[in-house]
This record gives sequence, structure tokens and C-alpha cells, in this order.
Amino acid sequence: MTGGDRTIVVGGGLAGVAAFYELVRRGREAVLIEARSSLAGGASFANGGMLTPSLPAPWNSPGVGGHLFQSLFSASASIRLRPHAIPALSRWGLQFIRNAVPARFRRATQANYMLASYSVAQTERVLCEDDIRFSLNGGGTLKVFRTPAAFEAQKRLAAQLEPLGLRYDVLDREAVAAKEPQLNDVSGNYLDGLYFPDDRAGDACAFTRALGERARALGGALRLDEKILRINVENGRVAGVDTDRGRIEARRVVVAAGAATPRLARRAGVRVPIAPAKGYSLTIDMAGWNARPATTVVDEAARFCATPLGDRLRCVAIAEFTGEDERVDPARTAYLYDHLDRLYPALAASLDRDKVLEWAGLRPMSADGVPFIGAAGPEGLWINAGHGHLGWTMAMGSAVLLADLMTGAAPAIDPRPFEVLR
Ligand SMILES: Cc1cc2nc3c(=O)[nH]c(=O)nc-3n(C[C@H](O)[C@H](O)[C@H](O)COP(=O)(O)OP(=O)(O)OC[C@H]3O[C@@H](n4cnc5c(N)ncnc54)[C@H](O)[C@@H]3O)c2cc1C
Repeated sequence: MTGGDRTIVVGGGLAGVAAFYELVRRGREAVLIEARSSLAGGASFANGGMLTPSLPAPWNSPGVGGHLFQSLFSASASIRLRPHAIPALSRWGLQFIRNAVPARFRRATQANYMLASYSVAQTERVLCEDDIRFSLNGGGTLKVFRTPAAFEAQKRLAAQLEPLGLRYDVLDREAVAAKEPQLNDVSGNYLDGLYFPDDRAGDACAFTRALGERARALGGALRLDEKILRINVENGRVAGVDTDRGRIEARRVVVAAGAATPRLARRAGVRVPIAPAKGYSLTIDMAGWNARPATTVVDEAARFCATPLGDRLRCVAIAEFTGEDERVDPARTAYLYDHLDRLYPALAASLDRDKVLEWAGLRPMSADGVPFIGAAGPEGLWINAGHGHLGWTMAMGSAVLLADLMTGAAPAIDPRPFEVLR
């Protein structure tokens, strides 16, 4: 294939497909290349489904270094560092801990909030304007707490973001149970709650696939089962890629390869500090059930989230630094079943575990908790990666921001916090 004005997008997850769609929609010649046999087969497959500007805080909050150290000795920690992963993480880990200071944490939280809230609006715009078979739940997010300290900390965070546009309600126990009646039996175990009405939810995998199909219908080329081996750079500018099927010339390459982004970028001479943070999910079929949860609930202490997605309930938790390992470990799914039981004991008691889809995926987590969106090193090389726990929330906003930067349009939000070479 000869280069012309072509852009190659590497990666068929949320980040790659949203960028691909946005470029094609603007009339650009774009080719998306994905190593797996379908779109959204990586971290975007069975994530929590939550679009949550209300959860913009990076996971390296001040004090995280101590938690990670303790987690080396605790099999049940919700954030856990595995000893074998330490050598590969050393450089990234030092940056992760260096960023866990109050001023940087606050800046990162605010930047994430701005992108996340913009992104939810962009997701809704795309669904309104274009012919995509997909809809979002409008239910908001309910956060419940077990300790006054955690509740007060979240209230402080919410109050800091209020001037930027975050809306929230403080709910007492009765109001929590009224918002989600299925919590009635256990509401005594929790304190008051916070409710964020502007959050949304939806199946990220279905969205990614629908968006990919729409981009294809608009003229984009989708190539599955093809792995990019290297990005070719000649005289300081991108010349194309080599894949396991041959060479493709292109003027621009967007790397949106999730947790694999650093590997590809490094071969083009660019360091992108992203590490895989493994998370788990359960997908439970609720068809035929009378007593169904209706609202997304986040149990703050356990970092456990349960989101209704139509006839299914998606439960997610855990961040494990254990390298690029997507295997499902039964000891870790036990953590999710245990916390499902604490929130919805009746549901957990009647569950047929053989019918539950247990899954693990790798969140591409940047060292400062903010994604990388923009130009990187050699001319024509762009990155859209490192969205961590917010890749669904931020997908459309990141894609629009990236496409604005690539096409010379004025971005609607400040791109500086997301610069790749920051
Ligand atoms: C358990 C869990 C729960 C989550 N819950 C939420 C949530 O509720 N809300 C939210 O906003 N976010 C959530 N996330 C985060 C979100 O899912 C991720 O941030 C997002 O999916 C990342 O998308 P991505 O496109 O960057 O990566 P991926 O989806 O992993 O896509 C990268 C793609 O690149 C491909 N690729 C890699 N290397 C190559 C190569 N050399 N050649 C070709 N293709 C390649 C891979 O095969 C993969 O398909 C969750 C994540 C997990 C794991």
C-alpha cells in the first residue's frame, strides 16, 4: 500500500476506534489495524460500563506507595503489587509514586474531570447525530461509604470539583435506599452516600463495535487479525508500519494500543510511561429476575462497582500490577463474589456461577494518572493511550481532542495536561 495522505490507527479498543471514527468522519483517509479477531477484545471488552466524570481521581493518591508495599503481603488488597512485576515496573513505579503528592494529584484530578465531562457530552452528541445503534443508561452513580473518613474525603473532592461543573447530592441512609431499593437490606452497613446525577453507563464493547462499523460505512478501512510489528520512521518522520502481513506506508500513525503502547512507541524512539493495571469483572444475566439493581453503585472502600447494563449486571474491581497477564485467577474473582454478596446478598445467594462471565483486562495506566493525547517525537506520530480506569468515560472526548490537534482545529478543552512529551 502506498502512503498518500493515509493515517494508520493501531488498536481496535475504545481509544483506537473512537479516534478512527472521528478522523473518518472528518473526511480523512484512515486504516485501523487490530491484532485480535474482533474490535474491543482487550481492556474494552467487559469493563465496568460506567461513564463517570465523578471518579476523576488518579489511583496514585497521596499515600499509595505505602498501600502498594503492604499489598505485597496481602492477597485480598483491592490494589495489589505482585513481586514478579517489580523489575519491569521500576521506572514507571517511581514516576507513579513521585506523582502521588497533593499538588500533582489535584492537578491530575481536575484535568481528568475536564476531559471526562467533555467526553460524556461528546458521546451523547455522537449518538444523537450519527446513525449508531447504541444507547446509554441515564441513571447516575451512587457511591456508598463504610467509614466517616472516606465519606468526608469524597465530599471534599466533590466540593473541589463543583466549581468546574460536577453536580452531586449528599444522601442519608433512607435516601440511599430510596435511590437503589435493592440496597435496603444492607443499608445499615453503610453510612450516608453521594449521588452523581450526570454520570452515564453503557456496554463499552457494544459501543466500540457499533462505532467501528459506522466508521467503516463512512469509508474507513478496518483490518483485523493483523499485528503491527514496528512503526517505520525515516529522517525524523513517520513513513508507515510493518505488520505480520507486510509493509503499509502512511504519513501518520496513531498509537492507541492500550497497555502495549509503550512497546510500540519505544521502537519509534518515544517513551510513554504506561503500565498494565489488571482488573476483573463478572457479567451476570438478570433476565427474569424481579429484584434487579437499577443504579450504578460504587462501594468506595472495596473499589467495587456494580452497573446494570440492560438485562445484565456488570461487577468490577481490583487493580493488580502483575505484568501483561490477562488470565482469570479464581482467587481474585472470589473477591468480586464476596463484595457482590455484601451489596446484594439475595442476588448473590441465588447466583449460578457457571453462568457468570468472569473476565480480566489490562487498564493502560499512565504514571501520573492522566492520559497521553497528542503528537509524540517523530513528525506524524500521535498517541491516544493511558486512560487507566477512565478509558470508556474519556473515549469520545479524547478522540475529538486528538482529531482537533491532528487537523489543526481549535480544541474545546485545554490540551496541555494531556501532552505526550510532558
Ligand atoms: C475491570 C475493568 C473495569 C473498567 N471499568 C471502566 C469503567 O467502568 N469506565 C471507564 O471509563 N473505564 C473502565 N475501564 C477502563 C477502560 O476499559 C480502558 O481504559 C479502555 O478499555 C482502554 O482502551 P484502549 O483502547 O486504550 O485499550 P484496549 O481496549 O486494550 O485496546 C488496545 C488494542 O490494541 C491492540 N493492539 C495492541 N498491540 C497491537 C499491535 N502491535 N498491533 C495491532 N493491535 C494491537 C490490542 O489487541 C487491543 O485490542 C475498566 C477497565 C477494566 C480492566
